[in-house]
Amino acid sequence: MIAYQSIIDDIAKTSRKVANKGVVASYIPELAVNNIDKFGIHLVDANNNNYSTGDALDSFSIQSISKVLTLALSFSLVGDDLWKRIDVEPSGDPFNHLSLLEFENGIPRNPFINAGAIVIADILVSHLKNPKEDFLNFIQELTNDTTIQYNEKVALSEKNTGFRNYAAANLLKSYGNLHNDVDTVLDFYFHQCSLEMNCKQLANAFFIFMNHGKCQRGKSYLNINQVKRINALMLTCGFYDEAGEFAFEVGLPGKSGVGGGIVALLPNTYCVATWSPGLNPKGNSKLGMAALEELTTKTKQSIF
Ligand code: GLN
Repeated sequence: MIAYQSIIDDIAKTSRKVANKGVVASYIPELAVNNIDKFGIHLVDANNNNYSTGDALDSFSIQSISKVLTLALSFSLVGDDLWKRIDVEPSGDPFNHLSLLEFENGIPRNPFINAGAIVIADILVSHLKNPKEDFLNFIQELTNDTTIQYNEKVALSEKNTGFRNYAAANLLKSYGNLHNDVDTVLDFYFHQCSLEMNCKQLANAFFIFMNHGKCQRGKSYLNINQVKRINALMLTCGFYDEAGEFAFEVGLPGKSGVGGGIVALLPNTYCVATWSPGLNPKGNSKLGMAALEELTTKTKQSIF
């Protein structure tokens, strides 16, 4: 039995002492209000034992972490047809870069760069009756928690400043890889990014990727093959041009967001979420990455 509680408590203690905590994202003005000193970890194991430390129950903007959840829902709805519109290769580029999109004729490199997530949002807008409401219901069902909501202020703040996302959506549209209106798809995308969750809710939402597609209550959302593919994408593309570094340091599939959250998982064993709003230059949580490196080193557990 691994002493997860004392390990994460120790990690939180070390993290609080670090002087350079990174920089809070400010390109979405509403995120700039985040307190750099916040730090939380929540780990849920395969037997539903929960371990928390620090600010694990404070809600924050999940941002790009939502891309894994929209991928899961769209994959369950359309199956492998998804891969006709999105590739599965790491981009080696920052999350908002557009050059490869033009070079590769409007097929985004993977579902986690913004262009790929916008195509996934388009698929959900096409397939769901009330896209924003249905996606929120999916998250509330996965976590068994109806308190989870969008943050309208964050969604609006991103809408007002999301020029690169408008550029990506328009480029996709010009290649015929966006079937709905640019504004409708981006409204969905900005809302999915604005979801507010805490570390505990995030770790619980990602339980399906650790548990063969089944949530904590045993309901199945994805088949084993789909879970394999989503975890492979998290490992190779979850941290954009820092995916190699995350695999090298941490050795788990995971996903980051510019709100400072990271979720990672060890199949059949645990899901863990960290939150520290200070980002490194690649847009990933500085202390979150360090914390997860320490976790896999101290527990001597990783997928390798
Ligand atoms: N909503 C953010 C954006 O589109 C998400 C980016 C991220 O979390 N990496 O820029």
